[in-house]
Amino acid sequence: MLNSSIIRKTPTDLRVRPNLNDYDLQRRMFGWDEAARALEGLPGGGLNIAWEAVDRHASGPLRDKTAFRFLGADSASRDISFAELSRLTNRFANVLRRLGVRKGERLFLLAGRMPELYVALLGGLKSGAVVSPLFSAFGPEPIITRVNLGGCKVLLTTDLLYRRKVSQWRERMPSLELVLLVGEDGGRTDIPGTFDLATLMDEADDACDIERTSPEDMALLHFTSGTTGMPKGAIHVHAAAVTHHATGRYALDLHPDDIYWCTADPGWVTGTSYGVIAPLLHGVTSIIDREEFDAERWYGILQQQEVSVWYTAPTAIRMLMKAGDGLAAKYRFPRLRFVASVGEPLNPEAVWWGKKVLGLPIHDNWWQTETGGIMIANTPAFDIKPGSMGRPLPGVDAFIVRRNEATGEITVVAEPDVEGELALRSGWPSMFRGYLDNEARYRKCFVGDLYLTGDLVRRDADGYFWFIGRVDDIIKSAGHLIGPFEVESALMEHPGVAEAGVIGTPDPVVGERVKAFVSLRQGYDDSEALRTELLAHARKRLGAAVAPKEIAFLAALPRTRSGKIMRRLLKARELGLPEGDVSTLEGGASS
Ligand code: ATP
Ligand code: MG
Repeated sequence: MLNSSIIRKTPTDLRVRPNLNDYDLQRRMFGWDEAARALEGLPGGGLNIAWEAVDRHASGPLRDKTAFRFLGADSASRDISFAELSRLTNRFANVLRRLGVRKGERLFLLAGRMPELYVALLGGLKSGAVVSPLFSAFGPEPIITRVNLGGCKVLLTTDLLYRRKVSQWRERMPSLELVLLVGEDGGRTDIPGTFDLATLMDEADDACDIERTSPEDMALLHFTSGTTGMPKGAIHVHAAAVTHHATGRYALDLHPDDIYWCTADPGWVTGTSYGVIAPLLHGVTSIIDREEFDAERWYGILQQQEVSVWYTAPTAIRMLMKAGDGLAAKYRFPRLRFVASVGEPLNPEAVWWGKKVLGLPIHDNWWQTETGGIMIANTPAFDIKPGSMGRPLPGVDAFIVRRNEATGEITVVAEPDVEGELALRSGWPSMFRGYLDNEARYRKCFVGDLYLTGDLVRRDADGYFWFIGRVDDIIKSAGHLIGPFEVESALMEHPGVAEAGVIGTPDPVVGERVKAFVSLRQGYDDSEALRTELLAHARKRLGAAVAPKEIAFLAALPRTRSGKIMRRLLKARELGLPEGDVSTLEGGASS
């Protein structure tokens, strides 16, 4: 059967010697103290993410190498070398200092994926500011909530976004003192109550004393995706770079001559940890595309830019699948050698699709805003079991735990194939250090030295982890615990299904009934006949107890801006309940 088969690593899959090649040995040998030595530390002591990512290379042999290649709407591109990135980020840090921004003060970023966004992120870190990148598509309310929660003092945005989303609401953001503007069209800006960044950058010095931050100093604030509820603000420190470096090495297999493309926006933790920090730490060239998803464009980028390592998300893969294999067949990807995905479970169907269409399997990996970096991954070092999120990386100890509802006590499950909550032993460097303004919630995540993730998983006898669902999304039907992912994956096996989202709806007899929402691939109509066919297909694959009783067709499923299916919204809409926080809803009222 498709689900239980294994993709064995072949020489085509492994065109270079992987950084992780002996999983057991390298896991045994690994220690975070040792891993930290891969970073240099600031001259004179301390640790600063930006120095490790940029300046360390800018003064060495990589100084003229392209750090970022920015792609614009047309075919225009702009390359920025490590040396130039160092100068620009120095200038930006000096701009902040001149404006009186001090260590620990908060800099928020609200801009499309333009060079200034990246310069500000890294320059902000150099100045000792705490940086929080937001999605530029956020509307005023999500911006106001986050600015207030994070105590934002400085905001970098564009003239257009400022006019549309910030200027009229400034009195509702009392902490916001300084606004730095970039011209959306690249020109200068002149709006009362703001500073034109280009002018300040011209006046700033090329040299800068990087703030002597310590590993435990706060560096970044990332808001969670809001898939299960109100987004939470997770606090991260400069030491996180140690994890970014180690995981870039082992989970993304970065090598110095790679052309790397992480498709995530820095408004989502993936776009910062792996779109900015990890590749720079490895001295690798990154592609940054300013445009949004478009199947032809994306295939074109993979081909033309000769991307060798690609990190994307299940939603994008599903959209490429939806666009049809004929489109993919027009392109060639001879340089592509490693593909990884994160953010949601990756259906086995999608892993196989990668093998067929890209010529490479897709390596699913698992982590959260809270973990700051990849924790469990399919790596080059072992075969892939499609549908599994892989095995814990070196330095990560993962457990399955069961919680006693009455006493709150935790037991660690040793046997394989038992479902339970995924827990991680605390202590990896990129672990979040708190939720903004929510100490109680933060404490609730820990029992002893275990961090409880809120995800239900199972581990098989070979040590592979299988995602079952969010603890909150599990469906209880006639005494069965049903994970939506299993049902969604079975539906995805049908050639007509592009995406599926599964929820439980209340039922007086069985507790909850399984209901599926499905969007179709091109060429399929939402007919009664197809509905019956899908119901039968699911029953055959899953058995009557687990298969959906009802299927509804939707043109598209509601998704977060980071691409996750919002099952809670499907459920609220189904039950006529309030939708709750929809600030992260893609295409929502906010943009
Ligand atoms: P919120 O916490 O606000 O509800 P969120 O949990 O979606 O949002 P993120 O931190 O962006 O916010 O996402 C982490 C979660 O995404 C994980 O806890 C898990 O549920 C899901 N996830 C990430 N990667 C994978 C994966 N490879 N397989 C399955 N689920 C994944
Ligand atoms: Mg979460």
